[in-house]
Amino acid sequence: MSSGEKIIVFSDLDGTLLDENYSFAAARPALRKMAESSIPLILCSSKTRKEIEHYRDEIGNRHPFISENGGGIFIPEGYFPDETILERFSPGIEPGYRVIRLGTPYRELRKALAELRAEGFPITGFGDLSTAELAKLTGLSTHEALLSKERDFDEPFLFMGNEEEKSKLFRAIRGRCLFTTQGVYWHLLGDNDKGKAVKILVEIFRARYGSLKTVALGDSPNDLPMLENVDIPLVVQRPDGRHHSALSLPNLGKFEGIGPHGWNSAMLALLSRLEKVP
Ligand SMILES: [Mg+2]
Repeated sequence: MSSGEKIIVFSDLDGTLLDENYSFAAARPALRKMAESSIPLILCSSKTRKEIEHYRDEIGNRHPFISENGGGIFIPEGYFPDETILERFSPGIEPGYRVIRLGTPYRELRKALAELRAEGFPITGFGDLSTAELAKLTGLSTHEALLSKERDFDEPFLFMGNEEEKSKLFRAIRGRCLFTTQGVYWHLLGDNDKGKAVKILVEIFRARYGSLKTVALGDSPNDLPMLENVDIPLVVQRPDGRHHSALSLPNLGKFEGIGPHGWNSAMLALLSRLEKVP
């Protein structure tokens, strides 16, 4: 990059870098170009740590990542040569990682969900489904469905009620000081979102590299906090060929192309534009 500024890119997975069949093949040209230019790609998903590790391995990505809608920030051990820049975020030490935990523990979310069901709300969490049921619902392989059940900070759920019951449910959730967000599914979570996690990682990268240009790509309402916290927010089209109507920001770049197709053209266009900056 001739602009001299370090570029870092945050990306959602489902519906953004991954298509409906969980494939990122259409984004390979841009991924290759980013790797050649040493641009960190930070995966930022509602998926679990284990699921994201699976895709990092497939992509050949060794950068930090954000799991479960901003619940956890996982920084590979030794990724930042000076780890004192992490200290003010009180990272925990786990094998291979420094982990900044922002989410509510999963057992508390499960407890709240069980109570809501006992109150009569027709709500089913991923934790209530067997691996086979989850694979059937999501289209994940049995192996990936198993990985998606190892949750730390976020419970995706299905709601079988009408709009009025849904409003009541959301009030009951807020009454418990918990929150919801929407990706492919509804999610029950604590006071964390993708944006809060992105903000922290941007601070850490700034401490390491100084001036940064930050980019994020998403497709759904749960990406909005992430998109609001970067210099260049980009959205891709959903499988119906539209951009999600709830995504609007003054500087939002809306790219043509569904999921990884839009991702690929957006990133190639952006990289060639940034390369031309004197
Ligand atoms: Mg998505």
